Amino acid sequence: MENRIITTKIGVYSHNELSAEDKNLVECAKNATATSYSPYSKFQVGAALLLDNGEVISGSNQENAAFPSGTCAERTTIFYASARYPGVRFRKLAIAAFTEGMFVEEPVSPCGACRQAILEYEKLGGEPIEILLVGRDKVYKLAGIRSLLPLSFEDF
Ligand SMILES: [Zn+2]
Repeated sequence: MENRIITTKIGVYSHNELSAEDKNLVECAKNATATSYSPYSKFQVGAALLLDNGEVISGSNQENAAFPSGTCAERTTIFYASARYPGVRFRKLAIAAFTEGMFVEEPVSPCGACRQAILEYEKLGGEPIEILLVGRDKVYKLAGIRSLLPLSFEDF
């Protein structure tokens, strides 16, 4: 028997330390929280995706009384981006959350289903999709979705 250790490198940035491009994407994700339809969870999530053609697509979580028919902000965003710009590579995805009148202090991370969906587009694009998880004072930056999904299912 042997043990294998899986590690995840997370860059922790203050908002001031971000590049102009990252700052813009973070702002787009924060703004997208305002479009959330989340009467049940009251947890407004926004996502913003930078595409290789320079376009930024943003989206938010959309809930439904017939739970769990709703969709997370991340999948709302990436599915729309793929439908709008099929075949265009995804470069960076920022995710922000707003609840009880303020942005969350600790950065939020995508659920397992979204991680799997992001992974598929990362694989299609052929390069890692940078992930920015937005907190009130800090932003976690990950090199790609595999950082959040070790030992992933990749049967495609
Ligand atoms: Zn999700």
